[in-house]
Amino acid sequence: MKLWFFILFILTFFQADHYQKLRNEMVKTQLEANGIHHPLVLQAMRKVPRHLLVPGNVRHLAYEDGPLPIGYKQTISQPYIVAYMTEAIDPKPGMKVLEIGTGSGYQAAVLGEIVAEVYTIEIVKPLGEKAQKDLAELGYKNVYVRVGDGYKGWPEEAPFDAIIVTAAPDKVPQPLIDQLKEEGKIIIPVGPNANTQELRLLEKKKGKIRTTSLFPVRFVPFVRDSLSHY
Ligand code: SAH
Repeated sequence: MKLWFFILFILTFFQADHYQKLRNEMVKTQLEANGIHHPLVLQAMRKVPRHLLVPGNVRHLAYEDGPLPIGYKQTISQPYIVAYMTEAIDPKPGMKVLEIGTGSGYQAAVLGEIVAEVYTIEIVKPLGEKAQKDLAELGYKNVYVRVGDGYKGWPEEAPFDAIIVTAAPDKVPQPLIDQLKEEGKIIIPVGPNANTQELRLLEKKKGKIRTTSLFPVRFVPFVRDSLSHY
């Protein structure tokens, strides 16, 4: 009996080490090599077990340089985009951040490693519920998941230091702008369809919004009607 426990321990240990190596490689070749340099972002992406947040059938692809399906016609962005968006809000340990589009919970976990509190909203109920369970199992006590329409933001917890939106609306939802702190940042893909979206950075200065267009992106659409029938 004791021997079995020992073998299991060794196997688990080597598997964890295997994924750690893949993460270190991902950070080096996909992130650092492409200009991501924020030490806390790199540290978080070396740590969060992306393979435990994606569906089992794509686990072996978790650290590849590409997006992955997470079910319900949704996708998790490629690691570079997650890192880029996290770096763009200039995350700091004391911050309170809102994410719209929890999906697998990966982006929320990366934020959870860096900032004080993460509030994340997912419109597809089973995805939100699964992410909540997975994040709790991984020990993220500072990440709060809500199932609902992220268009309205999370007024009870506003204002936020930063907001990350991971689905693309036609235009930036006004409630999110209203729930952003002075000097705060929103990073969001905007555009009517996947071929014409661009990533934008919004900054609030003296109550006014300054917008910077970054580069073309492809995100799943930001939807308004509840998909709770899934
Ligand atoms: N950040 C996620 C990727 C999410 S993909 C991750 O790290 O895995 C975008 C997600 O946004 C999808 O799960 C989609 O269901 C969700 N979504 C789309 N419109 C939404 C809305 N109005 N409110 C909340 N979530 C929304």
